[in-house]
Amino acid sequence: MAIGTLLYEGKAKKIFSTENPDQVVQYFKDDATAFNAQKRGTIIEKGVINNKVSERLFRLLEQGGIRTHFVERLNDREMLTKKVRIVPVEVVVRNVVAGSVAKRLGLKEGSRIDPAIVEFYYKDDALGDPLVNDDHLRLLNVATPGVLRELREMGHAVNKVLTPFFTERKMQLVDCKLEFGVFHNKLILADEISPDTCRFWDVTTGESMDKDRFRKDMGKIEEAYQEVLARVCG
Ligand code: UDP
Repeated sequence: MAIGTLLYEGKAKKIFSTENPDQVVQYFKDDATAFNAQKRGTIIEKGVINNKVSERLFRLLEQGGIRTHFVERLNDREMLTKKVRIVPVEVVVRNVVAGSVAKRLGLKEGSRIDPAIVEFYYKDDALGDPLVNDDHLRLLNVATPGVLRELREMGHAVNKVLTPFFTERKMQLVDCKLEFGVFHNKLILADEISPDTCRFWDVTTGESMDKDRFRKDMGKIEEAYQEVLARVCG
């Protein structure tokens, strides 16, 4: 696999072209950011862990009938994926109250949300990724009502496959952030699914096993990421 030019560099990943115009390589970095990139740091081996965890979860979702951009994992830090046009919407699915929804709505952290809810955030760094509703996304010409319906349905479908998988591994899937892209006129799941983009709580101790440990300076960050890898891929 000959890797081509750097197409895009984000906060946690780089995207490279390949000789196939329909495929790109995602390179996973150890760089970590939080609070709209105001906090920066490094989580050692995070890139390797997120690459392997994402591979396992994309394979699981494909088996569950969900289209994803995953093609194959090339090595420790690189994943071959389908080249999509990313829809600039973060689809957040929540099973338990945590983070911004606790703050915004004054809800108690840890309360169950059943059935799960889906939120949309408009991906725009300058605006700080604001929470938006369907009308805002139509106003912004980001997505049609049909696409928004599909994003919400796919968000719930992903959650239905992931939740029991994590329960079996003694982890509670509190919430997750999903991104979708268009590939040959079809919406498919893209980006990554990892402790950077989900909240996982240990079922026994209730401890965070995700990027909240970095956001809140809770310590044992690398250990938590390694434990996620062991439970998901072990
Ligand atoms: N999330 C993410 N990228 C973002 C914002 C949120 O991956 O730019 C994830 C976050 O890790 C959590 C979920 O989306 O699993 C919900 O995050 P929330 O809205 O509670 O915001 P936060 O408290 O993380 O700022």
